[in-house]
Amino acid sequence: MAGCRQLNTCTSITGAGRLSLQRTSTPGGREMEKLTINPMQLQPERLAMAPRCLARTRAGTECQSPVVKGKRRCRMHGGTNPGAPKGNRNAWKHGGRSADAMAAARYLRELARLVSE
Ligand SMILES: [Zn+2]
Repeated sequence: MAGCRQLNTCTSITGAGRLSLQRTSTPGGREMEKLTINPMQLQPERLAMAPRCLARTRAGTECQSPVVKGKRRCRMHGGTNPGAPKGNRNAWKHGGRSADAMAAARYLRELARLVSE
């Protein structure tokens, strides 16, 4: 159950674990119930259902963080953004270094090399 890791037992009132009735045992052995709203335990249901990273941690367990969209690992284990999407023109100046121009130049160099042999 997400959001109840540090406590012995807890019953979730809402599905997302925002508002929860927590039962804790004090060092004296008394059981206490308290209604808490812990912002650190806020988890939208979509995030709670997201696929989890299975990378092996140094502790030997699985990472369990949500994976990056379209990837199989979390942001800490290789799922980071590889760069701008294909076709992005945000830094386009003249196209002299575009994939098409570079491919054409490579083709011409190869032709020139074949001719000179
Ligand atoms: Zn991970």
